[in-house]
Amino acid sequence: MTDMDNTRERASAMIPDLRDKIERNLKKVKDNIADACARSHRDPDEVQLIAVTKTVDTNVIRAILEFGHAHVGESRVQEMVQRNAMIKEAIQRRIALPGSAPENRPVAPIWHMIGHLQRNKVRQLLPIVKYIHSVDSLRLAEEINTTAARLGLNDKVNIFLQVNTSQERQKYGLAVGAVAAMAEQVETLPNVRIAGLMTMAPLTEDKDVCRFCFARLREIFEELRGEKICGPGFRHLSMGMSQDYEVAVEEGATMVRVGSALFENRDQ
Ligand SMILES: *Cc1c(COP(=O)(O)O)cnc(C)c1O
Repeated sequence: MTDMDNTRERASAMIPDLRDKIERNLKKVKDNIADACARSHRDPDEVQLIAVTKTVDTNVIRAILEFGHAHVGESRVQEMVQRNAMIKEAIQRRIALPGSAPENRPVAPIWHMIGHLQRNKVRQLLPIVKYIHSVDSLRLAEEINTTAARLGLNDKVNIFLQVNTSQERQKYGLAVGAVAAMAEQVETLPNVRIAGLMTMAPLTEDKDVCRFCFARLREIFEELRGEKICGPGFRHLSMGMSQDYEVAVEEGATMVRVGSALFENRDQ
């Protein structure tokens, strides 16, 4: 038996327990989102949970698709492409997961690219991705635009401008002061649609720091809307991860990107 087979066996053996745990975590995170919505007088239907699957086995992604949860996020193109192919094949050939009931038909994945994106990966990404959260340069937006034309995609590509609201030096994302000018230029590209803005708060337990970043993103969003720089598709705030998604929802997030709170063993 190869190492690969070994890994597969172990992953399969894990599944029934894992399935229960993920179902519990999914419910817990959704309840927390609903509570945050109630606190801030928002409609929970306005907030899309994206399950960030970058650290888990493909079987785990299939398990959450079987729960009817379609929105999944990856930070690397290669992984997304491979996993998408494996999942699609399993769905097509009706290969059931061990421990899954026959009526558990998985939904098709809706992929979100959330990690830093290199221009030479765009071509592989575009045919499968629904939202790209991490656009932070005009050159990248232009590459997406020309590649979309070359591939003859039916719809515009939904992109987010990533903003470095915490102004940490090492972080990706546009400087706060550069967002409006960038949005104006990207809006001239016929094959992309700016769906919204995205940010990452610093890794910290300090909720006020996170809140500041999210409030800042929301301000920029309102400014751009006020100046009518972007079209009607401009309506999303992608912000909040496991450490801070509740704060993000209170500050107006319409998409939260949650990984470890769904997939790691821990009490929340
Ligand atoms: C990994 C990642 C997440 C999810 O992080 P967790 O702390 O596991 O919830 C969200 N957004 C981005 C951009 C990521 O890379």
